[in-house]
Amino acid sequence: MKQIVTRFAPSPTGYMHIGNLRTALYSYLLARHNNGKFILRIEDTDRERFVSGAEKIIFDTLKIAGLNYDEGPDIGGPSAPYRQSERKEIYLKYAQQLIEQGDAYYCFCGKAENHDDQNENEFGGYNRHCRNLSTDEVKHNLEAGKPYVIRQKVPLTGSTSYHDHVFGDITVENETLQDIVLIKSDGYPTYNFAHVVDDHLMGVNSVLRGSEYLTSTIQYVLLYKAFGWELPEYYHLPLIMGKNADGEVSKLSKRHGAVSFADLLEQGYLPQAILNYIALLGWHPKDDEQEFFTLPELVTEFNADDIRKSAAIFDYDKLKWMNSKYIANLSLAEFGDLARPYIERVVTRELADYDALLALLQPRIQILSEIPEKIEFFQSLPDFDINLLANDKKKTTLENAREILKATINTLESVETWENSVLFEKLNEVATNLNLKSMSIMWVVRLAVSGSMVTVGGATEIMEVLGKEESIDRLIRTLDRLQ
Ligand code: GLU
Repeated sequence: MKQIVTRFAPSPTGYMHIGNLRTALYSYLLARHNNGKFILRIEDTDRERFVSGAEKIIFDTLKIAGLNYDEGPDIGGPSAPYRQSERKEIYLKYAQQLIEQGDAYYCFCGKAENHDDQNENEFGGYNRHCRNLSTDEVKHNLEAGKPYVIRQKVPLTGSTSYHDHVFGDITVENETLQDIVLIKSDGYPTYNFAHVVDDHLMGVNSVLRGSEYLTSTIQYVLLYKAFGWELPEYYHLPLIMGKNADGEVSKLSKRHGAVSFADLLEQGYLPQAILNYIALLGWHPKDDEQEFFTLPELVTEFNADDIRKSAAIFDYDKLKWMNSKYIANLSLAEFGDLARPYIERVVTRELADYDALLALLQPRIQILSEIPEKIEFFQSLPDFDINLLANDKKKTTLENAREILKATINTLESVETWENSVLFEKLNEVATNLNLKSMSIMWVVRLAVSGSMVTVGGATEIMEVLGKEESIDRLIRTLDRLQ
């Protein structure tokens, strides 16, 4: 059996859409599962849309995601260069071969790439004005230095088919096809042409990409046929949809939430969680309920025959849930490294027990960006409504709150080991002494030190993080407001 060779061929757009990352992941998995080869190729022939720094985003993404490739622009390989902009001459040579064979032609219509109205045929494409120019006319135009593009000469009758592993047999009537541009007037190839030549020259025999290419692949099949090259196996991947506010779905876009890998990372999703989640967007091992997969497990389990063709719905709640499980599984130190930048956005003062804060946060957040709003009160005591201290359910009034605070301050001042368990004991002592319920004490103290109704952690846990001095200071300040 021949070795499977896949590739990821992104255009450097400046961001990595999660649909593209899924394509990269599946291409990687298919290759690795079969001990094949995975190539990275940069499709940068659209020079008008050049975005500086965009290539780095691609490299960084694949590195962070752990999708290592065997050949690519930054590591080289037998088919180098792997940047299409550096392969210009190669494409021109192959385009000329097609012209000689009668499968392509020079077109001098000018600006024809833009499909201006006068140049349209009934299917909306170019009207084929130059398709049958005489050899002399062509020669004359070339000698006169007229700008040109090179177009594919598609058959006008019959039909063309290919088999897609996900969507099945695809057949298109040739009369609906276009004489698409292969080489543009700037001498650069179009994607349509360049990727066919490259896939062939690089030995790519399994092509995975978004289903938006499902029908245009017919044009590429005709190119393979014209060259007499063996067709790759095609796997077009289902669309990724997002849920709209009205319950309908539409193609996943920014209005549904973050759609780029970088934005998801910034929101505090872990790379492994993102990868795990998108692996399941369109694929799942047969007869298996398992949802959590490491990358090596995916390599073992991945079978491209199980890719589904129905559109996948990107469910942010599900991803958040999955992310929370990944966060919960980190060691405290690992979590601390990830959480620190989010903590430092709002808490810059020294905390008595930083690890205690981490331990409070770790099981209580789904994504790292939830951290700042949850911990702002550790930085400074918010100016809260003092009347909140009186709470029927907690059986507190402003009067007993005053007593609680006084007794708590007194008791805590003599505490030497400032630890949650000790503080917990002490507050229960206060409750017994005042003949009040423990929940009343906890309510008043928690509010007094946090200024917040909802907090990560209870009264004593918060005080453990704040330390003795700051905790007592906050209790006194709250008591002062009550006097
Ligand atoms: N450069 C194309 C894209 O980013 C690649 C499509 C393909 O994989 O053939 O959409």
